[in-house]
Amino acid sequence: MVTATLRMYAVGFGDCFLLTVPRFGDRPWRMLVDCGVHGMGRSEHSLGTVITDVLETCRDGDGGAGGGAGAGGKPVIDLVVASHGHQDHIAGFTDARWEEVTVGEVWLPWCEDPTDTEAQRLRTRLDGAARTLHQRFAVDGPEIAAIALNSLSNERAMTTLRDGFAGAPVRRFQSATAPVRTELPGLPDARIHLLGPARSEEAIKAMDPPELERWLALGAAPAAGSGPGLSGSESLGPFGPAYGIADRDLFRQRFPHLDTDDDLLDHPVLDPDDALAAASWLDRCLNNTSLVFVVEIEDVRIVFPGDAQWGVWREILANTDARALLERATLYKVSHHGSHNGSPKSLVHDVLPDHVTSMMSFRSMERWTAIPQTDLVAALRTPGRTLLRPDEDLPAGGAAGVGEVRRAADGLWTEIDLG
Ligand SMILES: [Zn+2]
Repeated sequence: MVTATLRMYAVGFGDCFLLTVPRFGDRPWRMLVDCGVHGMGRSEHSLGTVITDVLETCRDGDGGAGGGAGAGGKPVIDLVVASHGHQDHIAGFTDARWEEVTVGEVWLPWCEDPTDTEAQRLRTRLDGAARTLHQRFAVDGPEIAAIALNSLSNERAMTTLRDGFAGAPVRRFQSATAPVRTELPGLPDARIHLLGPARSEEAIKAMDPPELERWLALGAAPAAGSGPGLSGSESLGPFGPAYGIADRDLFRQRFPHLDTDDDLLDHPVLDPDDALAAASWLDRCLNNTSLVFVVEIEDVRIVFPGDAQWGVWREILANTDARALLERATLYKVSHHGSHNGSPKSLVHDVLPDHVTSMMSFRSMERWTAIPQTDLVAALRTPGRTLLRPDEDLPAGGAAGVGEVRRAADGLWTEIDLG
């Protein structure tokens, strides 16, 4: 009996992963991680088709301890995880059929907790910025509008995750500053190590976009002195009078807590491109709320980082225990669909083991030629490593040292046996 099977659905540009763990004398244990697709990156398979397959697969219980679950019975999922609030990870939860699914637990990142005032303050600001961007660029800047829409809270999907499903699931709003070990009911040989996101003041600051509202006031100079700690001619802030970035080192020195990549700093953002920068900032804020965790079942360790970017990885990679877990990873779910900012180089080159297998969920798009990132793909394919992508044939020899790899005849999913 294999230890676990991980299925990656070809949703397009998004994530939907189903983990199945066979058990003796009981229905298989199941975990669903995300179910969504980006509005501009749909595949030939609709999310509805994906959800049909998930529900049919999760109906295959044997009627044992599951209590009424059985072939032809209602679908049962032990744990549903929504890594973060982006459309390309949760859009599928608007489907009405989730109401018939019995779920044991639902995990969400801390910032989606409706009873947490800090989380709600942050969400209100991010949503306000996303809504403004979306409205302003709906006609002239469809790409900017789409990025903003991806970040805007999907209330219907969130309602399912917070209040929906059958079986009165337990909700957990998670965060972690050091690995937190959680046992899994019904799976005595398994545990989950939660690695992030941190809920430190610094992390919150990095997500809270103080510059965003000023970026949105296109063409209007912000009030003097409104830039954090700036004076005189610099009072216009790090993005200058036209919101261009004059000096990358100066910017980093002044705003060490802001997670800004070299691309953005090297290419001064000028009106109207600053709207795109604002949209990408918004995107990054939400990505950095991603739940990052390692599922450990016997000798199998699966890393699920959502769309974590540097703000989250920095904290994780600085922790010895977290690194030790990542060094023994069996399978890596590639963060952020293989984009340049989802998987830090040190993680890929120095931490993940030489024989790691990776699964990358994305869709090749003419408009997003930099995804997947060529160097990242090469690094996940060094000798001994295997990378599974929905747009390529399966490797002839399977995944070295792992297990059998299969694909649905219509390409709806790719799955791998682990252990
Ligand atoms: Zn995503």
